[in-house]
Order: sequence, then C-alpha cells, then structure tokens
Amino acid sequence: MFTAFLIKYAEIGIKGKNRHLFEDALMHQIKFALKKCDGKFLIHKSQGRIYVDCQGEFDYDETVECLKNVFGISGICPVVYVEDEGFEKLCDTVVRYVSDVYPDRNKTFKVHARRANKNYPKESMEINADLGEAILNAFPEMSVDVHEPDILLCVEIREKIYLYSETIPGPGGMPVGTGGKAMLLLSGGIDSPVAGYMIAKRGVKIDAVYFHAPPYTSERAKQKVVDLARIVSAYAGPVWLHVINFTDIQLYIHEKCPHEELTIIMRRYMMRIAEHIARETGCLGLITGESIGQVASQTLNSLIATNEVCELPVYRPLIGFDKQEIVEQAQKIGTFETSILPYEDCCTIFVAKHPVTKPNVNIIRRHEHNLDEKIEELVKITLETKELIIAE
Ligand code: ATP
Ligand code: MG
Repeated sequence: MFTAFLIKYAEIGIKGKNRHLFEDALMHQIKFALKKCDGKFLIHKSQGRIYVDCQGEFDYDETVECLKNVFGISGICPVVYVEDEGFEKLCDTVVRYVSDVYPDRNKTFKVHARRANKNYPKESMEINADLGEAILNAFPEMSVDVHEPDILLCVEIREKIYLYSETIPGPGGMPVGTGGKAMLLLSGGIDSPVAGYMIAKRGVKIDAVYFHAPPYTSERAKQKVVDLARIVSAYAGPVWLHVINFTDIQLYIHEKCPHEELTIIMRRYMMRIAEHIARETGCLGLITGESIGQVASQTLNSLIATNEVCELPVYRPLIGFDKQEIVEQAQKIGTFETSILPYEDCCTIFVAKHPVTKPNVNIIRRHEHNLDEKIEELVKITLETKELIIAE
C-alpha cells in the first residue's frame, strides 16, 4: 500500500547556505544505500523535503532496512500517494488507510492537513475537521485528541495527496561526506569497525588502512578485514581499504628493539604510515578503536607514545567505552560475528609476554634509533607496494 517514503532529517548543522549541501549529500547516500535493494527508486527534493518514490515492485522491509542505515535520517515515514479525485474519494481513502494501518482502533487521533496546493477547494482547518468526522463516523471507538494523539495522520495536498502517520526511527547523525574524510586503522578486531561507524555517523567519509604480516597472518585474516570494511560501507559508503604489508618492518623491529617495547614501536610505525597515506588521500584525521586501559598499548602512557609520532589529530571514539559496550554496539551494527572469527592479527604474533604499560617516550625514541636508515627504506617499500581494495 505504501509507495513512497518521506525522509525526516535533523535540522542541526543545516541552517543557511549549507542546507543544500547537506540535502544533496543525504540524497547521494540514500541512492547508494538503495542500490542494494530490489526495485526502482526516485529520490527527489520537493519544498524542503526529501522523498523516496518507489517505482513499481519493491520489497518494503528491505527498503526500510536500507534507509535505516543512512546517517542523517532521523525518521522514515511510509507514504501513501493518492490521486486527487475529489474530497469524498479522499475521505474513503483515509478511512481505508486507518483501517489497514491500525487494526487495533482503540486509539486517539488528530488529522494534520497541509495545503501546498493553494487551489484546493478546502482550507486546512476544514480538511482537518471533515476528515476527522469521516474517521469518527467509520470508527466510533476512536476519538480525537489534539494535544497528544496516538496517531497523527498527516495529509499533504499537492498535485497528489500524501498520507502518512508512522515514523520509523532513522540512525540520526549527519550525511556521510558533509564532514570531510578520515583514515581508519582497521584491524580484524571488534573495536576498530565500531570506531569507524561512529565517526562516519558524524558525516565523515572513511578510508581505511590494514596492516597485515604474511605469512604470519593468513589470506583469510585479510579477507576478514575486507568483509568488515564492506559491512561498515553499508553505513559509510564505499570504503577505500589500503592494505599494507607490514612483515619486514615487524621483523626488523623484532630484531633491533627490546621485546617488551615491540608493540609500542610497531604501533608508532603504524601511525606514521597511516598518517602518510592519510595526507596523500586528503584525510583530515586518523581513527582508532582504542579505549583507555584495554590492553598494555592503550594506557595513558602508551597513548602518549603512539600519539606523538603523528601531527594529524587521532580520533578515538571508543576511548571511554567498556569492552562490553563496544561488543553491544558491534552486534547492533552487524560487525561482531565477523570480528570474532578466530584469525590471527599482526599485533598478536610479535607480542611480548610482558609488554611495557608505562613506556618512557625518551627511551622508546632511543631504541628506535637502533633502526637507523634501513627502516626508512622498509617504510618506503611498503608504501610503494600497498594494495588498494574498494569495499562496498
Ligand atoms: P581491535 O579490536 O580493533 O583489533 P584491539 O583491542 O585489538 O582493537 P589493538 O590491537 O591494541 O586493540 O589495536 C588498537 C587499535 O589499533 C585498533 O583498534 C585499530 O584501530 C588499530 N590496529 C591494530 N591492529 C591493526 C592492524 N593490523 N591494522 C590496522 N589497524 C590496526
Ligand atoms: Mg586488534
């Protein structure tokens, strides 16, 4: 019965001359999300509102699920389009609408008419009253409540007449693309995909970098990261995933540096390389899935040590989250099941038994000197041989 959706979006950040940028980005993201759905959709803007018209057959549930992934949408209203064939016909249609959508009619309601077409023979107040009467006549068990109705039945009179009353909550946030772009350090773990999701939700486009260490990490471990990037792309749009072969760098650090500092020094190289790619690709920040104290490399002291090697801001949206909270979010966004597949991560392979939890930055720097120019050469090679996968 529904043939369109009215898209509601929050007004924050869209005032003034930025409004059309916001709306265009939102329409673009809706289009991308609906590519995955069966059916033909026309997305258009009309009088400051965005509509998705479903042309021909479409799967209602699947379409709603896709729209629920689009950041910037605060609500999705399924709409019935009616041809204007006179007021009496409209009354019939409205009564049928109520009958179909609300099998349980022990409810209060209010009709809210808006007349975009000023040539329509009745004024809004009159439409409200007359349609209200038609509903009361058809369903005596219903009653009017103009202050807090259970059902707010909106009737918009345009060339066609739009009926809607239900709002399905959207994810909120800002349309991806309105907030610049940032580089996500994406591992195969639980945290980093959630971190990427959260920053994308604020309108930031996401590129990603994954460090793998073949043959210590398998092709399957890499595929898992590609799969995670693809899941994130359902919300964030296509994710450009840069895959970095980190093996030689890790082996070299392993050879030259104290083992309890391996993780920190390795992470410093990850940050340096990620920042390099970020700058080349126009990213305005780095994103990680770190949270304070989760592991040795995420104590405040360790974060000083990993943070100091890059100049771009590092966004850590999970910094104050407990693991359980991150797990719940991962389940909600659909990354959890993939994240817990048991493939090895490049960090865990070279990890020391007793990693430092309070690294001293001066000492770390001194030990990094052991790496001399050869490390620069290795970084250069790894950047030259990186692989790009577009996950969508
Ligand atoms: P996650 O669950 O995301 O793997 P974690 O708890 O395992 O996180 P660490 O291994 O200490 O934590 O990594 C901290 C952060 O560093 C990750 O959230 C991610 O952003 C980044 N990171 C770690 N390993 C990699 C990797 N192999 N490739 C890219 N980024 C990584
Ligand atoms: Mg990890």
